[in-house]
Amino acid sequence: MTKALLTIKELSCHFGSFCAVDNISFDLMPGECFALLGSSGCGKTTALRAIAGLEKPSQGHILHLDQTFFDHQTDLAPNLRNTGFIFQDYAIFPHLSIEENITFGLKDKSQKQSTLKRLLTLLGLEEHAKKMPHQVSGGQLQRVAIARTLAIKPSLVLMDEPFSNLDAKLARRLRNEIRQIFKSEGVSSILVTHNQEEAFDFADRMAVMEQGKILQIGTPEELYQKPKSAQVASFFGHCQIISGHAQGEYATTNIGEVPLQKNSDGPCQILLRPENMRLAPSSESQLIVKDIRFLGARKEITVQTPDSEIFVNVSARSAIKISDKVQITAIEACASF
Ligand code: ATP
Repeated sequence: MTKALLTIKELSCHFGSFCAVDNISFDLMPGECFALLGSSGCGKTTALRAIAGLEKPSQGHILHLDQTFFDHQTDLAPNLRNTGFIFQDYAIFPHLSIEENITFGLKDKSQKQSTLKRLLTLLGLEEHAKKMPHQVSGGQLQRVAIARTLAIKPSLVLMDEPFSNLDAKLARRLRNEIRQIFKSEGVSSILVTHNQEEAFDFADRMAVMEQGKILQIGTPEELYQKPKSAQVASFFGHCQIISGHAQGEYATTNIGEVPLQKNSDGPCQILLRPENMRLAPSSESQLIVKDIRFLGARKEITVQTPDSEIFVNVSARSAIKISDKVQITAIEACASF
């Protein structure tokens, strides 16, 4: 079995009596792109800063291969952790040129030129090398920050919302580029973000955090399709939770019988995604089409049930009309809690 590059075990961070990071554990594999996803204030930045050595945990272990970063008797200085940190505000030195910024951390003078040339090419910054930071764009500055981080050959790069100052299109392009660079260079990384789309785009696996705790760790597919709680489900896509009564593989609900991912019995909550249901006309049905939104490639139909509204995606060519009576069928087994 491949050995983890980084092992976080039962890590907690307190500010006075306030617990910002509450007993979190996860492994980061070599070359893996990992994300910590959660709403504002859930403790992601504090966890990242603890890994970098910028925040002192109150308990737990941080192990990097065979080197202890932190435990009850060790607290390795940040500069000895072979870790790069990329911040939201780039943290570029304004008085140094682009090339001076990139080579700032390089002690070995003999390798300066070759490293610089390689990184300028890798990040597409060749024509900007001699410019000062105020003469390049935000996206280029973020590339400079990445080049500067890669120059020190870190085994691990930590990124705190690095794309949030960029427009959506540029942020998307840059994170795809960075992911490819990390993969080709074999660098492991942890991205902190509150943006689900960003985490999905970037991460091989991610941890969903809430109030200092990790709720679930998994691949984007696992978290989207098999969330362990309604709280996790609500982070991803359009999440609709209805009540039902489970009896083995199925649950009885207001929209009829719904197949379940796991057998259970008794009252339950069921996750419905708009793309996991099909609509068919049914004159006997109590479910009525309340609204229709045309979204180009598909239509989103709002169906009124006896106690709620449910959104269902249908083909853009669907002939369903407002006030039609319809039947809803779940086309895949649904997560239940
Ligand atoms: P955001 O996405 O808004 O940056 P976050 O998930 O990264 O949020 P953290 O910055 O880790 O959250 O903060 C977690 C909690 O710890 C918050 O409630 C915050 O107010 C608190 N906190 C962070 N730093 C300190 C500090 N130096 N002193 C006291 N409380 C702090």
